[in-house]
Order: sequence, then C-alpha cells, then structure tokens
Amino acid sequence: MDTASQIPILSRRIYGRDLIYLDNAATSQKPQSVIDMEARIWRESNANIHRAMHTLSGEMTDLYEEGREAVRRFIGASSREEVIFTSGATASLNLLARCFTERYVTSGDKVIVSEAEHHSNIVPWQIVLAGKGASLEVLPVDEKGEISLEEFGKMLDPRVKLVSVAHISNVLGIVNPVEDIIRIAHSKGIPVALDGAQGIVHEKVDVQKLDCDFYAFSGHKIYAPTGTGVLYGKMKYLEEMPPFMGGGDMIDKVTFEKTTFAPLPLKYEAGTPNFVAAACYAPALEYAASAAVDPEIVPFLLEELPKIEGLRLYGTPQDVARKAPVFSFTVEGTHPSDIAQILDKLGIAVRSGHVCAEPLMARYGITGVCRASFAPYNTLQEAEAFVKALRRAVDMLR
Ligand code: PMP
Repeated sequence: MDTASQIPILSRRIYGRDLIYLDNAATSQKPQSVIDMEARIWRESNANIHRAMHTLSGEMTDLYEEGREAVRRFIGASSREEVIFTSGATASLNLLARCFTERYVTSGDKVIVSEAEHHSNIVPWQIVLAGKGASLEVLPVDEKGEISLEEFGKMLDPRVKLVSVAHISNVLGIVNPVEDIIRIAHSKGIPVALDGAQGIVHEKVDVQKLDCDFYAFSGHKIYAPTGTGVLYGKMKYLEEMPPFMGGGDMIDKVTFEKTTFAPLPLKYEAGTPNFVAAACYAPALEYAASAAVDPEIVPFLLEELPKIEGLRLYGTPQDVARKAPVFSFTVEGTHPSDIAQILDKLGIAVRSGHVCAEPLMARYGITGVCRASFAPYNTLQEAEAFVKALRRAVDMLR
C-alpha cells in the first residue's frame, strides 16, 4: 500500500501543491486503519462503557480495554492496572502533579524539571507545589541543548521528591539520557517521571527496562485520535496516591458519610472517557510499531540546514544517534512566523512560535523558533524540498 492511501490526508493539495506535512510534533496524521476503526465504532458499537448490561456497552467496553492492552504491550507495562487513560499528556502530567504532590510532598521539598520542558511539565508543578510551600528546581541545558548529568547529580538531596523530565524535548529533539537520569535518581531513592509526548513516538519504550516510575504521553501524536492520553505509573505509586477527579466510574461505594474508590486503573478515570478514541490505540500502535522515520532524514538535515546563512539550529547533541527528527531553528534577519507563512504557501506545514517552551526560548535569548518535525510517512525527497523551500523563503525575507 502506498503512503497516500495509508494516510489519506497526504493526498491534499495546499495552494496547488502536494502537502508536505512537517508539524508532526504537534499532532500526527492518521492512518486509514485508525480512521476506519473510529468510523466503524460510531456505526456499530457506540455505547457508554462499564455501566450497562446491553450488548453494545459490552462490546464498547471490550474495545476500550483492548485499546488499553495495546498500550500496555506497546510500552511493556507489567499490568493493565498501571495504564491510566487520560485526555492527553497535559492531563496525565496534571494528574501526576496533583496526586503525587498531595501524597508525597511537604513544605521545603523539591521537584526537579529541566530547562527544556514543555509548559505542561512546568505549570502543573508550579500550581501545586506553591500550595505546599515546596519548590520547582531547574536542571539547566547547555548551548547544544544537553543536560549535564554531573550537574544533575549535584542537585539531588533528600528534599528532592521527584524528577520529572522530557524523554525527548519538543524543541530540541534530543533524546535525553533518561537511563542515566533514572539510575542516578534511584541510587538516591528518588522516583523519575518522563514526559514521553515526543519520546513515545521516536524511541522504543519499555517502561520496565527503563525502570521509570511514571511515563506520560498523548495518543494524537502517535496516530490515535485526539483527546486520549496515557499515564503509566508503577503500581506502588498509583495505589498510594489519592484519586484525581471524583465522579462516576472511579468509585467503589458512595455514601454521604464515606466514599471508597474503584480499583486501578478506574480509580483515576472519573466520568465518561473518550472511549472511542482510546479503542483506536489498537490500530494506531500497530501502525507505530510497523513504521519508522527514514534514517537518512536526520543526517541530511543536520548537514544541510546549517549551510543556510544565519541559520541557528537548537538541539545538536554530540551523538547524532540521540537526535530525533525534530528541527527547531531561527534564521538571522527573519521572523519564524514569516518563514512558516511562506512555507505554507509552498505547501509545507511547519510550526512557529514559542512552541510551549517559553523558558527554553528565554534560555537562548529568542522569542520563537520555526520547527519542522518528521513522521514515518515523510520522505527524504520531502526533506529535500523543505530545505529548498526554506532557502527560497529566507531569500525572500532578506
Ligand atoms: N510534552 C511535550 C514534550 C509535548 O511535545 C507536548 C505536545 N506538544 C505536550 C507535553 C502536551 O501534549 P498535549 O497538548 O497533547 O497534552
């Protein structure tokens, strides 16, 4: 099957040109198998899960739980109880921040994040830590976007209750040394949460091998529909933490005097979840497991982009193997949104702006970047066309 029939949106034309979609770090395009499954559910099986005796509800519950099983297998979790469905990475990180802080953090404690975090791994912590008199500590990144493990080791003291860092930054595209971070933190008895919104897409994740304590990601970036996310957590923590939201489905027994909560994973899944989209994890992750970004794209762009005069690339790890296909850059004398607008007229979709990482923008003394991010359905020819179009845009603007 060719790519266009696998990913139907790619046959769209933009301003008379074939679409080249390079905004995959924001959201991915959907394979036909995912579109078919979602349409089939609306046509055949839609009914609220878990609460009824009728056939459709039973079918839909099975499909929802098959989606969970697909996630469990994909990330190598040991049990379905450790896979909590949320509405996205942002919701997963808010759940974690709220429930973890409530249970384990007291006045004077600290949580460490890196300087390269997405706002959703910064702001939820700020909101809850302030209320506890606890602080958010920032692990800096160097000019290339790298974390210093030595620096990291020095920050760990008995007041640090959690380390929460991106597996891959959505700006830098660097695969952080998460194995080392986890090993070092665990040697001091400190748990580690990974924001895997980008990591799940570009790395093979095995949460047991990694030994991370939490792993958060969004479905829509990994070919599932919008509005689903996952928080993986080790059983010990998920059992000890209080629930996040209260409501239907997350309870065992409710009286006005006392309410008891449902067993995992439902304890954290209050209300009607996006069960149709969650069921689509099965075909989405099947596609993800069968597809990879063309390995020639990263070396090609690392070679070609810096040849453009005045272009500055953010996220250039020492080891090229640790560069994911996410390229953020600025070009002297041009504005990122002007570049993005011209590229759009040439049929190429890239993102521009602070890309939800204002502290990292401040670190580099800029207010925004242009970002091109690649998926398995992008080709090397598209990468070449992107560089050519970028040169044209820069020439027009200077
Ligand atoms: N973390 C990272 C690293 C991301 O790239 C994103 C999405 N850009 C998020 C968190 C938030 O994901 P969502 O908006 O899907 O909740």
